[in-house]
Amino acid sequence: MLVSVIIPCFNEEEVLLATYAELTRVLEPFDYELVFVDDGSRDATRTILDSFAIRNPWVKAVHLSRNFGHQSAVGAGIDYCSGDVAVIIDADLQDPPALIPEMLRLHDEGEFNVVYGVRRTRKGDGFFKIWTARLFYRFLNRLADQPLPRDAGDFRLIDRKVMEAFKKLPEKNKYVRGLIAWLGFRQTPLEYDRLPRVAGKTKYPLGKMLQLAKNALFGFSKKPLKMATNLGLAGLAVGFLLILWVLLGWWFHVPGLVRGWSSLLAAVVFFSGVQLLCVGLIGEYLGQVFDEVKNRPNYVVDRIVSFREPGKRPPNT
Ligand code: UDP
Ligand code: MG
Repeated sequence: MLVSVIIPCFNEEEVLLATYAELTRVLEPFDYELVFVDDGSRDATRTILDSFAIRNPWVKAVHLSRNFGHQSAVGAGIDYCSGDVAVIIDADLQDPPALIPEMLRLHDEGEFNVVYGVRRTRKGDGFFKIWTARLFYRFLNRLADQPLPRDAGDFRLIDRKVMEAFKKLPEKNKYVRGLIAWLGFRQTPLEYDRLPRVAGKTKYPLGKMLQLAKNALFGFSKKPLKMATNLGLAGLAVGFLLILWVLLGWWFHVPGLVRGWSSLLAAVVFFSGVQLLCVGLIGEYLGQVFDEVKNRPNYVVDRIVSFREPGKRPPNT
């Protein structure tokens, strides 16, 4: 059985040597290939990956033409790997490669198609990241049209069946962990402690985190649209009662009815906000449809460095 390890890398020059050493150490007993996807790095990542690929026949480097984002890089790895199973892992050793043999065991013995890592603790991450992530996964789970595993990242093992099914998914904004959950098959969690990054800084600034969250939310839930409808209905009901109140007040000469232009202003502002929010929500879905209709590829490959003959198993060291 050939094990492919997919490692998306964006400006990871500080960690690559350590990651490479640890992966080759852990994978020694297995038939494996390492598929590094360079997501448009601007530092020495390119040259480091090329040097791995030139020296070692079991390393592939796929260089994307620019930074397409972590999820697209993972997608590229799935497209370019040839293993019977693939393990998706971060380049920064936050997901311990030492868990890979356990994942393989679960796959083999438990006959699971997907073994996904669930973060029991996140020692390396700051308070902000831990809490936004925790809240987000819970929020998403409430809204999502089908259950998505909580506190699970992309660190996981997937087998060939899942990879082929994943490749057939036509959507452009891929939220990998959600789509794999959606695919079904036999899946099992594997709890682990997420370690601190070995070196370098996070490549997921707030902007990219929000983008991921938006892709997840709008790709996996139609509930925000329903919420917009419900808010609109509630607004209409309140508006109707207000009109009734004004009419009755006028009819029965209720004293002091025409008062408080500030409350009027507040209502106008509030409902303008509600309207804008709803239009914005519709806009988000429209944006998703727009992306799908344009049908652009998820990533563009600049070049592939691989000294392995296609179809031939890499030698075991
Ligand atoms: N990454 C990527 N493209 C990006 C951002 C990140 O390929 O645009 C990779 C990065 O090199 C790492 C993984 O995605 O291997 C996770 O990123 P990071 O560790 O920075 O995220 P964090 O663990 O802080 O959430
Ligand atoms: Mg990380």
